[in-house]
Amino acid sequence: MNRILIGIGFLLGFYSAGSQEKPVLNYSEGDLCTQVVVYPLDSLKTTFFYDGPHVYWQPGKKHAKVKYYSFSPIKKRSKKHVYKWEVKPTDTVLYFEGKEHDKNKYSFLASFQNTPSEYTGVGKILVIGDVHGEYDRLVNILRIAGVVDSLHNWIFGKGHVVFTGDIVDRGEQVTESLWFIYNLTQNANLSGGKVHFLLGNHEIMLFEKDVRYLNVKYSYLASKYNFSYRSQFSNKTVLGRWMRSLNSVITINDILFVHAGISAEVAKYNVSIDSINWMVRKYLNRPNFAVLKGVENLTLGVFGPLWYRGYLVKMPFYAHITEEEVDLVLEKYGVNQIVFGHTGLKDVTPIFNNKLINIDVPFKEHCIPLQVLLIEDKKYTVVFEDGSRKNLFQNSCQ
Ligand code: ZN
Repeated sequence: MNRILIGIGFLLGFYSAGSQEKPVLNYSEGDLCTQVVVYPLDSLKTTFFYDGPHVYWQPGKKHAKVKYYSFSPIKKRSKKHVYKWEVKPTDTVLYFEGKEHDKNKYSFLASFQNTPSEYTGVGKILVIGDVHGEYDRLVNILRIAGVVDSLHNWIFGKGHVVFTGDIVDRGEQVTESLWFIYNLTQNANLSGGKVHFLLGNHEIMLFEKDVRYLNVKYSYLASKYNFSYRSQFSNKTVLGRWMRSLNSVITINDILFVHAGISAEVAKYNVSIDSINWMVRKYLNRPNFAVLKGVENLTLGVFGPLWYRGYLVKMPFYAHITEEEVDLVLEKYGVNQIVFGHTGLKDVTPIFNNKLINIDVPFKEHCIPLQVLLIEDKKYTVVFEDGSRKNLFQNSCQ
């Protein structure tokens, strides 16, 4: 049943299909670009592309393996490149210089610790909505927002950067986006800052082998070399183990960050943030929706933090949340505000007297100026990709 609801939720989502329902909010129809960027299979014949690195290395193993794929329109063929080397069983960090087209340097951790879900005393926070494999725009806006320099070095000091999930699917630079965030996380740690990549429903779909939104470039490679796309994110890979260690919900100061939202249904269940993170991580290791019961079913289902769509619109399966329910959610989790992504709008949008803020401005919609949100000393600034900035609450009482 839950699966059917999720499917219907997709069909009704603004992002790709356009809403069948009248939005409750004060934004006009057509605010979002409706064009869907199509990457036709035919274009593979004229476009050079590559994918990688995909690093296979497990703690204690004697060998590491790195795979790249490339496609040349001149030679009209694709190639798989595999590099192997010996590793000492005691190594906990592995260094690797990119091969082929890849000029990056990487350091891989053998294992990942779960990170805390609560942070206090943070001076500045930058929040980014659904990236969906749009690596170039991601790097550009982080540079403009003062998070990285032109060489991708972390220059955000002790600040925190929050990705509210859905890094994967749709776009053609998913691997690049993941490695960039992975490296940024390590660089931030060295400077006393933090990067939080919160899981979104598309990360869950990746682990569930749901490839409906996979870019055709990745489908082509998986088919050509006869592997499951998901296998590149198995427990045997660095990216796979890292993603399995991530949180889904965190609080920083008095703000809760989540991909889709905390519904009143979840709040009434008294599910703690740590429990949500634990249940999602457990599910990622053995995704099988059929076996979920009770609170796990609620957490991973359509009313859960990764899928919920009741904050913005009234839909057949989502009654539009009331302000009283929003207050209940805030009180239950001891926060004053929730910042979320998942449902694309043309602007960073505060609702319910600024108690909720949607920050998902679709990366792939090039007709919409890309925006991220900078929260600094109670000041909320929207940073645009052209370098301009505006106070988020300039037209309302904060
Ligand atoms: Zn989403």
